[in-house]
Amino acid sequence: MKVPLLDLTAQYAAIREELDDAVARVVRSQRFVLGPVVEACEAAMAGYVGARHGIGVSSGTDALLLALMAEGIGPGDEVVTTPFSFFATAGVIARVGATPVFADVDPVTLNIDPAGVAERITERTRAIIPVHLFGQMAEMAPILDVAREQGIAVIEDAAQAIGARHDGHRAGSLGDYGCFSFFPTKNLGGWGDGGLVVTSDHARADRLRALRVHGETSRYHHRFVGGNFRLDALQAAVLHAKLPHLDRWTAARIGNAALYTRLLGPAAHRSGDRLRLPRVVTGHHVFNQYVVRVAGRDRVQAELAAAGVGTAIYYPIPLHLQECFADLGYRPGDLPVSERAAGCVLALPVFPELTESQIRHVARTLGEAVETGGGAEAAHDPPSGPAPPSRTHVSADQPAAPTG
Ligand SMILES: *Cc1c(COP(=O)(O)O)cnc(C)c1O
Repeated sequence: MKVPLLDLTAQYAAIREELDDAVARVVRSQRFVLGPVVEACEAAMAGYVGARHGIGVSSGTDALLLALMAEGIGPGDEVVTTPFSFFATAGVIARVGATPVFADVDPVTLNIDPAGVAERITERTRAIIPVHLFGQMAEMAPILDVAREQGIAVIEDAAQAIGARHDGHRAGSLGDYGCFSFFPTKNLGGWGDGGLVVTSDHARADRLRALRVHGETSRYHHRFVGGNFRLDALQAAVLHAKLPHLDRWTAARIGNAALYTRLLGPAAHRSGDRLRLPRVVTGHHVFNQYVVRVAGRDRVQAELAAAGVGTAIYYPIPLHLQECFADLGYRPGDLPVSERAAGCVLALPVFPELTESQIRHVARTLGEAVETGGGAEAAHDPPSGPAPPSRTHVSADQPAAPTG
């Protein structure tokens, strides 16, 4: 049996006419850049998220970059974020000339630990970027408290979490900015690159709209230096047509995750922490990824591949140990929870169209791989005691993880 990590063809086949019609309308209009199709998509997305304004942009990365630019963040400024995310989260901080400051993650959710954020605030801190990793919201209340106290901005990286909720609020609606990606692997995927920034602040929305078109405030008048960060009308048409289906797809992801957790529960229990399943802690997790932690991860991944199961490693190298950030001075062992997670995380297929027999095949293969693996190595932090010396285990033989 073949179980790919992600297969978008079934989703397309199910709503092909709607999508093809939406695209054909744009083609017939020959209006490809911004315009009414983009505006309608932005309004629908902002309404869905629960924010006043939606600004369609060229990618999730550019959504984060524009939020930093709209805050005027640059050289000399610090931005606190997580080391356990897709590269873009920290890359954008460096691109505006500011300094990324990494706070380690919570060992259960792998989302940024609010206590660590508070410890890293200095008089140079201008923003915090929490990431809602894999589709589960970070613990926002203490992050928002410390930000308000210190007068700094909160930019939510909600690229993996459209539709996630906690305490009645949707991902992206709590911070000063919410940033989304429509990369095809995300829960709401376009036919190429695309992204969105939401905000409920009028002045910020105006700045974002200007920055998206070279900082232009009226024709040929540039109050700021921006760039070309526009969302194409073709992408907006696809995304707007897909949005009404999103909650149904999300429900299917949640159902698939629940089935994995039920099937793998006994093996995880018997494994003595050599297999650890994701835990839902903050409300409504939308499972962009179903990520287990498993001892002997690379061997287990190979056994799954031999059984036709596609998996991926998000993320094999924590951001503070990336070569391009060497001059920030972090060393292995500095952020031990992230480093240990990098050595044992494994994402299983969880896309909405999976069949029950496919999920059973993945769970059976994984359960057997864990039980025959032997060894006593735990797949996570020991419950107490000091962290073992730097054991960032990064295997060189993994395929590069795609975006997300
Ligand atoms: C996908 C992703 C991004 C970047 O989005 P792109 O549209 O690929 O530029 C940023 N942050 C996180 C957490 C992501 O998963």
